[in-house]
Amino acid sequence: MGRIAGIDLGTTHSAIGVVDSGFPILLADGEGRRITPSVVAFTDEGVVVGRAAQGLAAVQPAGVVSSVKRLMGTAREVAGHSPEEVSAEILRHLKVLAEEALDGEAVERAVVTVPAYFNHAQREATKRAAELAGLSVERILAEPTAAALSYGLDKLEERSRIAVYDWGGGTFDVSVLELRDGIFEVLATSGDTLLGGDDVDAALGEFLARTLSLGKLSSADEARVRAEARRVKEALSEQGQTVARLPFLTEQELVVGREDLAALAGPLVERTRRHCLQALKDAQTEAGQLQAVLLVGGSTRMPLVRERVAEWFEREPDLSQHPDEAVALGATIHAGVLSGTLRKMTLLDVTPLSLGVETVGGLMNVLIPRNTTIPCKAGELFTNAVDGQESMRVRILQGERELAADNWELGTVDVRFGSAARGQARVGVQFEIDADGLLTVLARDTQTGQDTLLEIDSAAVDVGDEQVERMVEESVEHAFEDFEARILTEARLKAEELLPAVEQSLAVVGEELPEEEGREIFEAQSRVEEALRAGRANDLKAAVQDLDRATEALAARVVEKAMEEALARRGV
Ligand code: ADP
Ligand code: MG
Repeated sequence: MGRIAGIDLGTTHSAIGVVDSGFPILLADGEGRRITPSVVAFTDEGVVVGRAAQGLAAVQPAGVVSSVKRLMGTAREVAGHSPEEVSAEILRHLKVLAEEALDGEAVERAVVTVPAYFNHAQREATKRAAELAGLSVERILAEPTAAALSYGLDKLEERSRIAVYDWGGGTFDVSVLELRDGIFEVLATSGDTLLGGDDVDAALGEFLARTLSLGKLSSADEARVRAEARRVKEALSEQGQTVARLPFLTEQELVVGREDLAALAGPLVERTRRHCLQALKDAQTEAGQLQAVLLVGGSTRMPLVRERVAEWFEREPDLSQHPDEAVALGATIHAGVLSGTLRKMTLLDVTPLSLGVETVGGLMNVLIPRNTTIPCKAGELFTNAVDGQESMRVRILQGERELAADNWELGTVDVRFGSAARGQARVGVQFEIDADGLLTVLARDTQTGQDTLLEIDSAAVDVGDEQVERMVEESVEHAFEDFEARILTEARLKAEELLPAVEQSLAVVGEELPEEEGREIFEAQSRVEEALRAGRANDLKAAVQDLDRATEALAARVVEKAMEEALARRGV
């Protein structure tokens, strides 16, 4: 079937990625660049795409097409081509780039992203463009959803809401999303399709031209000033000031500071504010309800944007991903999930349900609680409950219920040992889950050192979302009775251990027991027996505790008596 690629077909830049050895990566061109300008040049010698086409724009602007994404879904022709045909050239370029990066492996399927606000016609046009380029579209994905995937936010709690602020080269949009069944749904989106980083470049270019008194410029010179303005703008995201130089136009140089840019870009940034408020309002969401605010698009690298966004949304934005790569990376992750190459990683990097073993009395003993990050390891020592026992059956369970019978059994391991008195055999049980979600259970008889291994496939451990939800719901629903059942079982085990021990002690001490003490013990014994019959957890627990207290002195007498006898035997 082949791999599925993830593609961000952007207004100003595009990128492509695949999942390789379980990891989503963006693919680079021959020069190591992962982002390609969405520019197509139709020349007499043929079609040129990307950086080379961008270079041609200054020399022979006729036939060079940029920002064709704005025209998708319309019938407008550019340079004699439909918007789909121009977009297809960009997609074909990305396909070839990917195939070269993958040493000739064919790339024929893709997940392609579109803005959340794209209508049916625009999405269909995008699909057709991909088909023209020889790519079958497995899924059209909303850009903010892709961005959220790249930040790993599909692991937030169900119904979490986030905002995605995307400011690229030519457009701005902001969306409020809600997580449902592991995928984000766009609740509201707002924006301006004619507001982007290009506008900042234009404002800064004009500032340079005026300050350096460049006078009236030809369109080629204007393009040079724009390009320098853009370089200056991008540099100011990293440093406080930089020097603008326009060697073909003037010998003068100009030191430009971050505050100059802030003054020019400020009003443009301010124009995005009302869209943020509008999206929140349409989604009926207060800023305080958001779990995260993501910055997407190259223009959000400007420190000014980060500051303002933090202010408007009342929280620091998440900066953990590259803003201009997040959409392509998210598309790649989605492609990986669709093709199955990422399944284990995304679904199983935490344990969906608790894993444990059944212990005496049919209780669930949790070794690895649910939501533990994998890989992980945990173990515990168990002992035999019955005299003369020769083997122990370890039942491996998954679930959130207190009683083993209410959980799911994943497998069993039988550990054999030589006949042992109650509590004498020692069996160590260890659970280990590797990065692929494979559970290995190791049971060791600590006396012989003999190991028994059982491997449980990740498919068994990795239950579906619905099952997890049902199990967790049931555990909450039955929390009270489950708790009762556990207390009752534990108290019963304790009673069954204590009653014969008391009988034995009474036989040892016999006549020497003061009458008062004997009566107290007898009463406590009958209360335990009665509670055992009635099966009431808390009564039994209290009765067992009383019997324990009432027999403290008796236990001391037993020890004393044993000591006396031992001394007497030695003739002391
Ligand atoms: P799109 O989604 O529109 O294709 P991108 O997300 O690639 O676009 O954003 C491109 C815009 O980001 C351009 O205007 C570019 O100048 C701007 N940009 C890129 N890097 C920086 C930076 N370091 N500082 C400020 N702006 C930047
Ligand atoms: Mg973009």
